Amino acid sequence: MSILHATHLVRSYHVRGGVFRAGSAIKAVDGVSLTLQANRTLGLVGESGSGKTTLARLLLGLERPTSGEVRFKDTPMPKPDSAAWRALRAKMQLVYQNPRAALDPRVSIVDSVREPLLVHDTGFVGDGPLRATAALESVGLGLEFYTKRPHELSGGQLQRAVLARAFVTLPEILVCDEPVSALDPSIQAQVIATLIEQQKRSHVSILFISHDLRVVRQVADEVAVMYLGRIVEQGPTERVLHAPRHPYTQALIAAVPVIGPRHTPRILLAGETPDPANPPQGCPFHPRCVQAQDRCRTDRPALRDVAGAGLVACHLVGHS
Ligand code: SF4
Repeated sequence: MSILHATHLVRSYHVRGGVFRAGSAIKAVDGVSLTLQANRTLGLVGESGSGKTTLARLLLGLERPTSGEVRFKDTPMPKPDSAAWRALRAKMQLVYQNPRAALDPRVSIVDSVREPLLVHDTGFVGDGPLRATAALESVGLGLEFYTKRPHELSGGQLQRAVLARAFVTLPEILVCDEPVSALDPSIQAQVIATLIEQQKRSHVSILFISHDLRVVRQVADEVAVMYLGRIVEQGPTERVLHAPRHPYTQALIAAVPVIGPRHTPRILLAGETPDPANPPQGCPFHPRCVQAQDRCRTDRPALRDVAGAGLVACHLVGHS
C-alpha cells in the first residue's frame, strides 16, 4: 500500500549570482515520480548535489514543488505551514546527519525527546514524560541518560536519542538523511540495528538517504538512484546492488569495496557532476558515461519499466 506518492515533481530555483550564471534556473529535482510503500524502506542514493535532500523536503511538504504533486495516503499534501500541514507534521519525522545540531545543548535528553509531543498536536502531552522515557528505553538509553545534556553523550548515543525523539510521536513516515555518515563504522552498525528494530515495532515507512551503498543495503527493501535531479534506476535492493543496469549505478557500485558477489563491470566514475544550471543535452550522464553513443548526446532516455530490471533510464537497457 502506498503511503506517499509523488508525481512528476519538479523543483527549480532561480539563480541571482555566485558560482552559477546569474539569471539561470537550476532544476534540483527534475520530473521525479516515486512511491513510498507502507512499512517499507526506500533507499535514495546518489552523489552529493544529485537532489536527494530537496526531493525529501518536497515529499514531506517542507517545500512546495514548482510543479507536480505529492499525496499522503491518497490526499494532496497541504501547503507548508498551513494548519492541515501542521496537523500532519507529527506523522512525518526527520533524522539528519548531525545529531548534535538536532538537540538543544541546554536541554536534558529526556526533555528533548519529549519536546515534539508539546510542539505537535499529538494528543500525548499528558503522558509525555512516560512516553519520552519509554522511547529512550526502546533505543537502549536507560535512566542514567535522562538528565544528561547532549555534550555528555557520544555520537552514537546522541543519534539514538534523536531516533527516540523521532519515534516518540508515533510517526508513519521517517526520513533519514545520511543518519550515520558522521559515525564510526562500529557505531553505525549499532544505530542501524536500532533503526531496524524500531521499524519492526512501529511499522513506520522510511525514506533512507545515503551515499553509502553498504549502509543502504542493510536497511532498504528498494533503492532509487538519483543523478542530476532525476531517478535513473529503481528496483529491489539486492537486484540493483548486485546486478545494476544503468551505467551510473554500475559506476557507483564499482567505487565501493566489494558489496557482495560482483556481477558488475568495473566502470570507474570519471569527471565531475555537470553544472545543474547548464545540464548536458540528451542523457545528463553522457559526458561521464563510458558506454555513451551518438544518440545519448541528443535524446534524453525516459525512465522505463524494463522486464526483470525494475525502472531504468538508459537507451542501452531493454533494447536489443
Ligand atoms: Fe550512458 Fe547513453 Fe545510457 Fe546515458 S543513455 S547512461 S549516456 S549509455
